[in-house]
Amino acid sequence: MSDKAQGFDTLQIHAGAAPDPATGARQVPIYQSTAYVFKDAEHAARLFNFPEGGYIYSRLTNPTVAALAERIVHLEGGVGGICCSSGHAAQIMALFPLMMPGCNIVASTRLYGGTYTQFTQTIKRFGWSAKLVDFDDLDAVRAAVDDDTRAIFCESIANPGGYITDLDAIGSLANDVGLPLIVDNTSASPYLCRPIEHGATLVVHSTTKYLTGNGTVTGGAIVDSGQFDWSASGKFPSLSEPEPAYHGLNFHEALGGMAFTFHSIAVGLRDLGMTMNPQGAHYTLMGIETLSLRMRKHVENAETVAKWLENDPRIEKVTYAGLESSPYYDRKARICPNGAGALFTVAVKGGYDACVKLVDSLEMFSHVANLGDARSLIIHSASTTHRQLTDEQREAAGASPNVVRLSIGIEDAADIIADLDQALTKATA
Ligand SMILES: *Cc1c(COP(=O)(O)O)cnc(C)c1O
Repeated sequence: MSDKAQGFDTLQIHAGAAPDPATGARQVPIYQSTAYVFKDAEHAARLFNFPEGGYIYSRLTNPTVAALAERIVHLEGGVGGICCSSGHAAQIMALFPLMMPGCNIVASTRLYGGTYTQFTQTIKRFGWSAKLVDFDDLDAVRAAVDDDTRAIFCESIANPGGYITDLDAIGSLANDVGLPLIVDNTSASPYLCRPIEHGATLVVHSTTKYLTGNGTVTGGAIVDSGQFDWSASGKFPSLSEPEPAYHGLNFHEALGGMAFTFHSIAVGLRDLGMTMNPQGAHYTLMGIETLSLRMRKHVENAETVAKWLENDPRIEKVTYAGLESSPYYDRKARICPNGAGALFTVAVKGGYDACVKLVDSLEMFSHVANLGDARSLIIHSASTTHRQLTDEQREAAGASPNVVRLSIGIEDAADIIADLDQALTKATA
């Protein structure tokens, strides 16, 4: 194969997946094995020095999982990366090499509900904290950064939908203050948005969503751009100084752009154990083969349904960045050139009660706490995923009581609209 960079549609099928050297199997085999036989004692010793050169034990690396990681790295345009057990695991794994007790992150207020709770509550147990700021207010983001800040975190297309972060502006701010930018690219997928091209250092994914695409398995991934200088500021000793948890290896000095990836395997996966299993990786590898085809259809349907809803008298407001009425429409062209995704919120006339009735009256839509499925999904965030939040926090997250979140599937748009139409009639009667 020539060195010319291959296109997205090719990479989503071929990246990370050469025929199996032992059997010639064309599909990536599910290597359902916990351990791997060492050739001899010397080989074993070498592997323990540098885990990526081969396989030792599947808590650290597994060939099926490694194929998936490599594929996602290619699609995101990074240099290295790992998979782990869920999107939430990926977020902890991304922060782990950067943080120490007393450190903080500056994160956007517009976050997936579970991430909101992870950042505002759970990470406090590690002595970490998060300062949440409106990422459209660049002065506020800059002002929130202090000497203990170790990362800036946002979502590309923010859950529950309709908002696109100005990654160019945030990326250049992160660069100015010398901090890594971590972007959760779950709602966009690398087909719609490639955060590294806008200044992201690390990209995290819940592969549970569009990358798998059919609601079968949970998983997560982290991709490293390889661009960040971990040694410049002295703020990231796990990467830039001898790491006591791995026989004193200086990861950045020894591995350069692969420092984060190797640390995540040798220390992160080894000691936190948030490992993806090979069966799960297999489902996601199957899903990714059709990622671009599905995303095109998701976007086409979302645009059609959002336009229909916007013109319906029973609807108060549709927040979808793919609509010309959206304040983020111009940003979409720059940050998500292939479309604004398929996740958006709808404010229904009749408020909380109408939303609950709408959810209960839909027949084809599934009422679930998930997104990025081939099926159309709906959830009333205020009474479910964003239930633990205060009214003010819900408002900031775009999850007011009169709002439902739709994840538009890849069925026929006419059938999606017909289902919404009959349910809206019942909900607003
Ligand atoms: C689902 C989701 C997560 C969490 O991922 P899990 O795989 O459920 O742990 C994080 N961020 C976003 C944007 C999500 O949609």
